[in-house]
Amino acid sequence: MSADDVIANDQRYILQTYQRPDFVLDRGEGCYVFDTAGRRYLDCVAGIAVNALGYGDTQVAQAIAEQATRLIHTSNLYHTRPGGELAKLMVERSFADRVFFSNSGAEAIEGAIKFARKVARERGRENKTAIVAFSGSFHGRTMGAVAATHRAKYRLPFMPVMPGVRFAPFNDLAAAQAAIAGDVCAVIVEPVQGEGGLSVAAPEFLRGLRARCDAVGALLIADEIQCGMGRTGTLWAYEPYGITPDIMTVAKPLGGGLPIGAILLTEAVAGAIHVGEHGTTFGGGPLVTAVAKVVFERIADPAFLAHVREVSDYLDEALHDFASAHPQVIELRGRGLMRGLQIDGSAGLVRQAGHDAGILLATAGDDVVRLLPPLIVERQHVDELVEKLGIAFRGL
Ligand SMILES: *Cc1c(COP(=O)(O)O)cnc(C)c1O
Repeated sequence: MSADDVIANDQRYILQTYQRPDFVLDRGEGCYVFDTAGRRYLDCVAGIAVNALGYGDTQVAQAIAEQATRLIHTSNLYHTRPGGELAKLMVERSFADRVFFSNSGAEAIEGAIKFARKVARERGRENKTAIVAFSGSFHGRTMGAVAATHRAKYRLPFMPVMPGVRFAPFNDLAAAQAAIAGDVCAVIVEPVQGEGGLSVAAPEFLRGLRARCDAVGALLIADEIQCGMGRTGTLWAYEPYGITPDIMTVAKPLGGGLPIGAILLTEAVAGAIHVGEHGTTFGGGPLVTAVAKVVFERIADPAFLAHVREVSDYLDEALHDFASAHPQVIELRGRGLMRGLQIDGSAGLVRQAGHDAGILLATAGDDVVRLLPPLIVERQHVDELVEKLGIAFRGL
């Protein structure tokens, strides 16, 4: 099938929820992907912050092959080895005491909401069911997760979504404190917002949320599905704030490209969840957790995280120079290898022009160009990124 045939076939048979560019990706290598015409693209999307180790990682490929021939799936009715091993690693390297594995980010959010409601109920607080979320938030597409997602276009066409969500303005602590009343069982926040435009939580905001949650007996849920696992230069994005959440959701990079989500929680939360109260057929299966173990060990390695910080500093400097030279840049946002350029113009046009220049760029809303390169990028890739971004900006 030619590229045109592939595209025509997709357009005929696949539900059209995505507008895709007019090439067909065929293979990847390191920080690059190639289309069926052999054109090479520097990948600054990484499958939306998923492909942290880039493409063609031999350890990931080997883990898939080995576990695929041993045991792919058994259901959660039985013990297998890899899930518990991965959970132990994640517990040892986080605030958490226990882990529940799901299949996606949205599913992890659903579980987190259920657990928060259950904790309140277990304490005899029947009406403590409200959830506070923030402007610019994105937590997923299912009925609970989308209820906590701020963007009207994602939420309103599907009303009634899960009731009980209250939105407060991001980084406005006084407004958040007012919203976090006694009926609130949980506050859900992305330390660095992804889809919403790369806003970074101010230290006093996140610390203030923690204090307010403690004051009213609400749980703090950190959604680190996009910003977690090394992307901001620390293993978890909450770390530099000097606080810990009660629940954290993780997903995108964890499976090396295979679908997996995780809910990390404290023992105090875990104590409210009993056998049979939550479950999943596929979640935490031996194949995906065996692979995730390899990915997690690699990313949690202090030397790997030091590399992310080092290349992040280099990127930060390069982006500041870029912004000085390009008056279309209104604001630089984000942290680590999760960066946004808010521009005076259409981010979609820049993305489009980027394809012609040989770079994959993401967007966040209409006016933010979002950079999510694999975490294995080197300085030479940053140089190429900035050069190609410059070419793409000529489209503005
Ligand atoms: C992508 C994302 C989700 C949803 O994850 P899916 O795997 O697409 O369901 C939730 N929260 C954040 C912050 C995300 O970036």
